[in-house]
Amino acid sequence: MELTFLGATGTVTGSKYLLSCQTDAGVSKRILIDCGLFQGLKQLRLKNWATLPVNPRDVDVVVLTHAHIDHSGYLPLFVKNGFSGKVYCSDATRDLCEILLPDSAHLQEEEAEYANKRGFSKHNPALPLYTKEDAKNALELLTAVDFEQDVDLGDDLTLRFSPNGHILGSAFVKISNKKTSIVFSGDIGRPNDILMRPPVRIKQADYLVLESTYGNRLHDREDPQIKLAAVINKTVKRKGVVIIPVFAVGRAQELLYYIHLLKSSGAISNDIPVYLNSPMAVDATEIFTHHSGEHRLTPEQCSALNRTAHMVNSVEQSKRLNETAGPMIILSASGMATGGRVVHHLKAFAPDPKNTILFVGFQAAGTRGAAMLDRVDSIKIHGEYVPLRADVELVSNLSAHADYAEIIAWLGGFESKPKKTFITHGEPVAADAMRLHIEEQLHWQVIVPDYLETVTLT
Ligand SMILES: [Zn+2]
Repeated sequence: MELTFLGATGTVTGSKYLLSCQTDAGVSKRILIDCGLFQGLKQLRLKNWATLPVNPRDVDVVVLTHAHIDHSGYLPLFVKNGFSGKVYCSDATRDLCEILLPDSAHLQEEEAEYANKRGFSKHNPALPLYTKEDAKNALELLTAVDFEQDVDLGDDLTLRFSPNGHILGSAFVKISNKKTSIVFSGDIGRPNDILMRPPVRIKQADYLVLESTYGNRLHDREDPQIKLAAVINKTVKRKGVVIIPVFAVGRAQELLYYIHLLKSSGAISNDIPVYLNSPMAVDATEIFTHHSGEHRLTPEQCSALNRTAHMVNSVEQSKRLNETAGPMIILSASGMATGGRVVHHLKAFAPDPKNTILFVGFQAAGTRGAAMLDRVDSIKIHGEYVPLRADVELVSNLSAHADYAEIIAWLGGFESKPKKTFITHGEPVAADAMRLHIEEQLHWQVIVPDYLETVTLT
């Protein structure tokens, strides 16, 4: 086998790995594991427009570890450019992609429209990376398979999904033939997540591709409810608004559940209005309740989660919130404040010091979220600078990613060391720190690959 890293090298986005497999009979099969969009810094986003070193027509199969756009969002373009094979994923990943991919297409179309209006595109007219039609075509190729079942890919190749606890439907992907095997970690969840079950232990793989989002950090071990309650109470006392930028899938449901727990225990007042202003998050919450076998919540807890917030669907309702006085809590996407309805709320509420912007997940370099956590004086929204006077807070231990100690503990499940472990999906400092932790603590052979690097797996 040969493995080429087409993304998630030196960054947490753009996950794409090309596995070229040669059989004894000389047949070669190409499998793309994850098909993610680059996000964040402009130089990264431009990579979405670059021609891939492989023609999508020559790829036989795509496999998705999970539905997050940085792992699935390139698929519509890949299909538009000629891929026509099966896209294997878990059942819940398929359901989530059905809402995430059309939304991503919508954002691409909006961006192109905006560039045309402003006339700042080099191309005239500016075109979207892909359209809703392209997303629809991609969805038709999704093929759901069960966890812990071997899927025969032909030519002696086998695929297997195992739950990895990151979000609904997320999986470790193992691909093996008679000679060798490789596991792709996807994004690894945490052992004690409030919603998701812990990542299953993998006992063996000849090669491992491992994420390192938090390769240089440990999550605070304190119960996140303590800081959440403190931030909410402090803001409510000032009659302010708590804006929580959330990913529609995963974080939004977790936050709703935490807010439900805080209200039930009396840690925050039961009277504080809570709004979930993201149609996609509303849909994702429904999908979450449908896949009850995959998470920890009982049907009663699921319905409590659904009752915790007013679900905001229409644009009018969303706009009205900006004219509503606090106290209130608004959860809105996107999680790094790069787009979506939360941007409109930031425009309305960031200039007022009685409000709080509360981040609950990783903020990639180059995003508005990262800039706000760095306490910039103003943020650029829709071409204008909006003063940032609101409090900015971070509850870091709500992450859906394992930290390095949790990853090292998970690696302890391997009964023999992989021949090589490739560290991806981390900013350069985090990836290198993860390499050191593994080398020093486990004495494994570890490599931090470069963008477009190819390695041979024997
Ligand atoms: Zn993810």
